[in-house]
Amino acid sequence: MENIYSITFSRLVDYFLKMGEKKYRAIQLFDWLYVKRVTSFDSITNIKKEIISQLKKDFYFDKIEIINQEEDIDVKKYLLKLSDGETIEAVLMNHDYGNSLCISSEVGCNMACSFCESGRIKKIRNVTSGEMVLELMTIEKAINERISHVVIMGIGEPFDNYNNFCDFISIVNYQKGINLGSRHITVSTCGIVPKIYEFSEFPYQVNLAISLHASNNELRSKLMPINKVYPLEELIKAIKNYISKTNRRVTFEYIMLKGVNDKIENAIELSNLLKEINCYVNLIPYNETNHLQYKRSSKEDILKFYDILKKNNINVTIRREFGSKINAACGQLKTVKENLA
Ligand code: SAH
Repeated sequence: MENIYSITFSRLVDYFLKMGEKKYRAIQLFDWLYVKRVTSFDSITNIKKEIISQLKKDFYFDKIEIINQEEDIDVKKYLLKLSDGETIEAVLMNHDYGNSLCISSEVGCNMACSFCESGRIKKIRNVTSGEMVLELMTIEKAINERISHVVIMGIGEPFDNYNNFCDFISIVNYQKGINLGSRHITVSTCGIVPKIYEFSEFPYQVNLAISLHASNNELRSKLMPINKVYPLEELIKAIKNYISKTNRRVTFEYIMLKGVNDKIENAIELSNLLKEINCYVNLIPYNETNHLQYKRSSKEDILKFYDILKKNNINVTIRREFGSKINAACGQLKTVKENLA
């Protein structure tokens, strides 16, 4: 038995063809699931009984539940319970261009970045494609509004759960279903190099963001253990390949840690590292967490850093902040049941 929300349109077409049915059955089913949004096979009226009973044998309707919700200006954080009892978080942000949802891709995370709260608990399991779809649909239902943008930047490393997040993109992008534009989807990775190569062949025009956070290997390896496996030279090479294959601009995320990576020499080093790359740098004021050794850089230092990048012709922005009061900001999401208390 498989979660019905995990199956991509093309796999569903194969399923029906194998059954001796026509492709349009898949179109009908996607319409029931993602336009009409029924939550049981019994609500489906235009598909013959025999097919429905076969569907019932092969698939089930999974569910996720909102078990807690916190709010701040323009942001809501949801604690979600998956059907096996594991919990993840998702964060809804209200932008002038629409609702954007930050979803989790894993329960826990193995990347162990030293500044990030989400990696405190090792990965327990993947979040499946169907569960990612349900993160989106459950929250759309709760707010009774459409979500126009999705960022896969919650708990977990999506490139460590590659097939599931690719299937998720394919499912939500399908036009006669949820119809979320691929350019409205952003996926962020800490830099799993072989998957960046694989992703350069991925046939959807989604946005790629890279969590960089350091301007040299020594510093990056201290902050992000993944850098010991895939150092900066290899990461940059993979990104250049991605840009040349896809013609898409990438975003580099750079969190500003007081006295750690926010010095003038870091800004110069970073400018040199990224020159000639078609990219944006997003400077992220650090959200303080229980990793007490890290503090947020001062506004002044962030602006100085910004100016140096600008002078070196690097496209740079400072990220608008959301939800730090309710621990809903980047790096503050957790996979822990105690946060129910
Ligand atoms: N594993 C993926 C997806 C998580 S995205 C990745 O690493 O890209 C979450 C983003 O928030 C990453 O850029 C992460 O490095 C950043 N982040 C983690 N902790 C943070 C914190 N305390 N303050 C600000 N950003 C943080």
